[in-house]
Amino acid sequence: MTKIIGLTGGIGSGKSTIAEYIRSKGIPVYIADDQAKAIMEDPGIVKKVQDIFVENVIENDKLNRKKIAELVFSSPKLLEKLNGIIHPAVKENFDNWLKNNIKSNFVVKEAAILFESGSYKDCDKIILVTAPQEVRIERVIKRDGVDREQVLERMKNQWTEEKKAEISDYIIENTDLASSLRKVDLILKELNKM
Ligand code: ATP
Repeated sequence: MTKIIGLTGGIGSGKSTIAEYIRSKGIPVYIADDQAKAIMEDPGIVKKVQDIFVENVIENDKLNRKKIAELVFSSPKLLEKLNGIIHPAVKENFDNWLKNNIKSNFVVKEAAILFESGSYKDCDKIILVTAPQEVRIERVIKRDGVDREQVLERMKNQWTEEKKAEISDYIIENTDLASSLRKVDLILKELNKM
């Protein structure tokens, strides 16, 4: 059976950077955030999502993600409903993707909200990428051109690093990138023996 390796980390931890490195080693990598974005353009999903809001959230036939983010931010109930549409759709998409990769010993699923969405339960092993909060904040400010408050706001809905670390099998302290990639090589070696 193909094993599923979850790859996650808080905002700015560097999980996408690590995911790209793993992909460059020829390992199939599924990027859940990218797939979720694509799924949100599906006309059936657009309709289902619009149906949970009183306000119009469609602009030029597409979901206005910014508006949706604002609306669900102040309403946990709406967020739950939205997740109830998006998470099962991503799961189905992942299951189909997995069927095309059954020849691999293992595949990697990169997801920012691997824990928060509960999808970590379907993983055989979990790799957590971490970095000190201040470092992560600085990286995101630099990468996205946002301010500190906006980064802190995004961090608010994520589990703490401590809670994530408890459930993870491998932890990559991603400060010096070269050492992180060496650690990834070691982890991949170990996973290949599974
Ligand atoms: P998000 O959840 O916001 O998408 P992420 O965890 O996927 O974040 P990345 O996008 O991989 O994080 O990294 C955040 C920024 O930090 C990027 O600009 C990346 O190039 C940079 N970065 C990643 N790892 C390191 C490192 N070890 N040292 C310095 N910069 C790094």
